[in-house]
Amino acid sequence: MKTLKYDIVVVGAGPAGSMTARNAAKGGANVLMIEKRQEIGSSLRCAEGISHKGIEKVGLKIDRKWVSTEVSGAKIVSPGGKVLKIDEKNAGNEVGMVLERHLFDKFVAMEAARAGADIMVKTSALDVIKENGVVKGVKAISYGEPVRIEAGCVVSADGYESQVARWAGIETVQKPSDITSCFQYRLTNIKHEQDFCEFIIGSIAPGGYVWIFPKGGDTANVGIGVLLSKLKKPGEVKMYLDKFIKSDSRLNCGQPVEAIAGAVSVSPPLDKTIMDGLMIVGDAARVIDPITGGGIANGLCTGMHAGNVLAKCAQAKDFTESVMQEYEDLWRAEMENRLWRNWMAKEKFLTLSDETLDSVINTIGEVGVEKVTVHNLLLAIKERHPELVKEFEDLL
Ligand SMILES: Cc1cc2nc3c(=O)[nH]c(=O)nc-3n(C[C@H](O)[C@H](O)[C@H](O)COP(=O)(O)OP(=O)(O)OC[C@H]3O[C@@H](n4cnc5c(N)ncnc54)[C@H](O)[C@@H]3O)c2cc1C
Repeated sequence: MKTLKYDIVVVGAGPAGSMTARNAAKGGANVLMIEKRQEIGSSLRCAEGISHKGIEKVGLKIDRKWVSTEVSGAKIVSPGGKVLKIDEKNAGNEVGMVLERHLFDKFVAMEAARAGADIMVKTSALDVIKENGVVKGVKAISYGEPVRIEAGCVVSADGYESQVARWAGIETVQKPSDITSCFQYRLTNIKHEQDFCEFIIGSIAPGGYVWIFPKGGDTANVGIGVLLSKLKKPGEVKMYLDKFIKSDSRLNCGQPVEAIAGAVSVSPPLDKTIMDGLMIVGDAARVIDPITGGGIANGLCTGMHAGNVLAKCAQAKDFTESVMQEYEDLWRAEMENRLWRNWMAKEKFLTLSDETLDSVINTIGEVGVEKVTVHNLLLAIKERHPELVKEFEDLL
């Protein structure tokens, strides 16, 4: 069997994996990134929304080639049809642009390659190699041929359905109430507002929301997320979306050119994202925002920190947990409180009736928020409905 040797092997070439590979290689590490699909960025499962800040913060330069649509703001629509419209001036970090994910993912992978990382596509990790309980690499299959990849550190960047961390012995199982099942059409020939990302909340999407993210002209990503614990049978999430589209005169004239199904974790992050010879980043680390379901920016951010720390580990030739602790400290300092707060808010909001949600949206409109971030929305709610945020007041 062919054997390869690297300082670091990154499993998965999504935004988190490519960012890890890029920064580790930039810092001088010998890096291989493997991707099971034959095309990086293919088989998109994403609504493609992200803020400018989410991209710029990790040192990537925005390139129009992978931006589908710049939006001026967001609209949150309550069950009774009350609209909270947030214009560009007030739009905070949660909205900004809609990507061409298939191009964006390739772009970040190319950045990794330019920094010196090797990439193998159509190469799937099948298990980790462990010696005396320590992870020492992965067994993989590449173009149908088995390959043994030995490395000082394996990075689990294999997304929501992550298996690498579990093979290594880390608990990654999630409760149905911490998983959102999603279905999305790319709809064309519709009459939506082209300048705004729209979020529609309430019992039309139990525990989640419907989104309309513009993709230029008469086309948009129209999707729905419903908590798995609220679904009674397979395929029900699509039925919820179809019902919504049928009822909306802007959308029911549209036709699909694409349909995708997928899941996002809306859980708190993993308790542990490192062990000797293993690091976990992005969706695999469960860093998706539990309120918005957005995971690209957080994934990039964990990848940036992982890559920087791994470059130092490679120099020191030490990939033990104690040295990699810096990664765990850096990403937790940046987002852990926010992820826990938003998870608690999600748990609270899924108990609210449509009437209460109407009143909450009204309240936010009355109180006004200077910059619309989940944090500021929660502060506005606290002013009029303190009972709704009581359990996580100290995180506000
Ligand atoms: C319907 C839907 C809509 C969404 N909308 C948004 C949105 O609008 N904005 C936002 O920010 N986030 C959104 N998300 C979440 C976002 O897509 C993820 O958070 C993001 O892709 C995470 O990046 P990642 O690199 O961690 O994982 P991924 O992008 O999932 O990448 C993981 C990669 O690992 C590869 N892989 C898996 N197993 C193996 C293996 N064994 N060997 C080799 N390779 C492997 C996969 O093929 C994949 O390429 C959405 C998710 C869904 C499902």
